[in-house]
Amino acid sequence: ATPTAVMVGVGNGARRGILFRNAAALEQAGKVDVLLVDKTGTLTEGRPTLRHALALDGDENRLIQLAASAEAGSEHPLAHALLQRAKESALPLLACERFRADVGNGVEAALPGVGTVKVGVPSWIGLALPPEAAAWPLEGNTVVAVSLDDRPLGLLALADPLRGSSKGAVAALRGLGVKVVMLTGDHESTARSIAAEAGIEEWRAGMKPQDKADVVKYWQQRGSKVAMLGDGVNDAPALAAADVSLAMGAGSDVAIAAADITLMHGDLAHAVDAIRLSRASLAKIR
Ligand code: ADP
Ligand code: MG
Repeated sequence: ATPTAVMVGVGNGARRGILFRNAAALEQAGKVDVLLVDKTGTLTEGRPTLRHALALDGDENRLIQLAASAEAGSEHPLAHALLQRAKESALPLLACERFRADVGNGVEAALPGVGTVKVGVPSWIGLALPPEAAAWPLEGNTVVAVSLDDRPLGLLALADPLRGSSKGAVAALRGLGVKVVMLTGDHESTARSIAAEAGIEEWRAGMKPQDKADVVKYWQQRGSKVAMLGDGVNDAPALAAADVSLAMGAGSDVAIAAADITLMHGDLAHAVDAIRLSRASLAKIR
């Protein structure tokens, strides 16, 4: 069958920037009843900007300069935001020696003559949010802490707007009988705010890469056919575990390599198209 129907489906997908790895990928997409979706870079634009900075020691510019310098080797969207801001404020980046990314937590780097700088999840840095920053995550911001030689240096709030198409796509998926669950490594309050904005009722926050994969298995054990849509290195284990994996074309190479379907114009609306295309092709096969 309709190998022809499959070929036509794959071709139609390619024209719209939906790249099915093979015929099986096209056939499976339409059978999905749970779609797990990453937040940062998937539901959101993945282009965060710095909204607030709170220096606990020294001034704001120094806080941003040290954080950006430590992030210079990172490909995380949050890193781009900090590097962008450093550039705009004409803050020179300091030399960085031993850079290490802890996926889902943050980064650590040695800045010679300065010390070891960490940027990441406040609880990973060992910092509780002071009252001045308490409202930041409630407004949908991602909050990261910065430390120098394990001393708290400050906090940064980054806002990453929801993609324009996310909310409509969530509604469309519901119409197709597909349950949408958001998985994110971000903080609980940030997750709640973004999920509400997107019209997503179920979500999990504070997820490490392996936690995301465990959620895939949870739904599979309940008999669901599970798709995972993600963009990052942190999504790779979940993409590998899913029945159908979808990667954002602008995402990391690791995510794309693991994916059955790559969405070149990455957004959730194209995941809806992939499912519709699959169902239409399957209808022709029967
Ligand atoms: P998501 O699941 O939403 O795509 P990640 O797993 O990539 O998010 O990141 C989870 C959290 O880890 C982020 O919200 C941030 O607090 C922290 N984090 C990860 N990478 C970095 C980084 N390079 N710089 C600062 N913080 C980071
Ligand atoms: Mg992501």
